[in-house]
Amino acid sequence: MAKIQMKTPLVEMDGDEMTRVVWEKIKDILILPYIDLKSEYYDLGLPNRDATEDQVTKDSAEATKKYGVAVKCATITPNAQRVEEFGLKKMWKSPNGTIRSMLDGTVFRAPILVKGISPLVKGWEAPIVIARHAYGDIYSAVDTKVEKGSKAELVITKPDGTETRTLIKDFAGSDGISCGMHNTDASIESFARACFEYALSEKLSLWFSSKDTISKIYDHRFKDVFNDIYEAEYKEKFEALGIEYFYTLIDDAIARVMKSKGGFVWACKNYDGDVFSDMLATAFGSLAMMTSVLVSPNGYFEYEAAHGTIPRHYHKYLKGEKTSTNPIATIFAWTGAFKKRGELDNLPELVTYGEKIEQAVLDTVGSGYMTGDLALISDLPEKHVLGLEEFLNKVAERYGEL
Ligand code: NAP
Ligand code: MG
Repeated sequence: MAKIQMKTPLVEMDGDEMTRVVWEKIKDILILPYIDLKSEYYDLGLPNRDATEDQVTKDSAEATKKYGVAVKCATITPNAQRVEEFGLKKMWKSPNGTIRSMLDGTVFRAPILVKGISPLVKGWEAPIVIARHAYGDIYSAVDTKVEKGSKAELVITKPDGTETRTLIKDFAGSDGISCGMHNTDASIESFARACFEYALSEKLSLWFSSKDTISKIYDHRFKDVFNDIYEAEYKEKFEALGIEYFYTLIDDAIARVMKSKGGFVWACKNYDGDVFSDMLATAFGSLAMMTSVLVSPNGYFEYEAAHGTIPRHYHKYLKGEKTSTNPIATIFAWTGAFKKRGELDNLPELVTYGEKIEQAVLDTVGSGYMTGDLALISDLPEKHVLGLEEFLNKVAERYGEL
């Protein structure tokens, strides 16, 4: 069979440890036999980041701006122990953080649903994708202890030097604490555009929630920015696709999320997104079944798995032992990138390939063939635990039948 030809390259960001092994095996077994892969390759493995003074990470982000679609393998974010382990020149920053700030992007996390692994919430039939605004609020707040008898005020110094002062609290009767936080219109606007772009791309409705009834200026600003951008730039496109955008109070959002069937994007402020993304990941089953995509307000997409480099499996692999590492989230990172590339380049066969590989994965797990982590949580009556390579071969076999 002739291999599928690509037009524009994918930006390929290789990574570390076990996921680097998974990366190569996915390419060998599920990609290269079917696709004449065009990729611009960047080695984001820690040794090469160290050798290039982390320039390779910045170059890969620039390439993503040029080509629009990237696929990334999990990478080590070095800490003190890693600096020693790899003899690093420096404690390099998180590559994901660097790429996110260069693309000004928002991360969307989406669970993969398979037969046999039921979400803890019975009614959920389709994925709930969560978007977290990863800027500002309490994550970059300043806070302080306050001594009894003090007054805390919010002071704004304007460009002309004049000040406005707003009393936060007169601590006449007790010691206490106080906190000052901020956000910027520019960041909220980028977040909103990334959410609208993603919702259009996935043809999913978008919910945004905050606490504007209590936070009448701060959270209200988020609500207004989303609403203004929606009305001005996205309303017609949403209506044309038959999807909707709505705002609702965070309390109401929680109630609706729990009662929903799933199948929408939920945009959250920084703290809400931090907390509820962990809740959703757990409720949907497993971190190994969670994909993640970074979307910039300009519509650049970078796909990856939400999990890390799985060092415990890597140490086994280095000893020559067989591991039952789950490659599904990394496979879906690749298929997500191929589907997007195919859509942008008008290559329906590339889109179909991505869809079929995904279907082959779901069929394989649904028919009882899976890695060890899934066997622990699957409620199928008959389960066969496969090693990494055996699983990939089984998926390839199934792909051949579709
Ligand atoms: P991790 O690599 O996600 O692994 C944590 C545990 O989760 C594993 O030991 C394994 O459990 C299970 N697990 C995760 N993915 C799995 C898979 N695909 N198949 C089977 N089991 C899986 O998290 P970590 O150990 O906290 O972090 C390791 C490294 O990854 C760190 O250096 C961190 O900086 C990096 N990291 C990178 C990214 C990224 O690039 N996006 C994200 C997170 C972490 P068992 O051991 O019980 O089998
Ligand atoms: Mg969290």
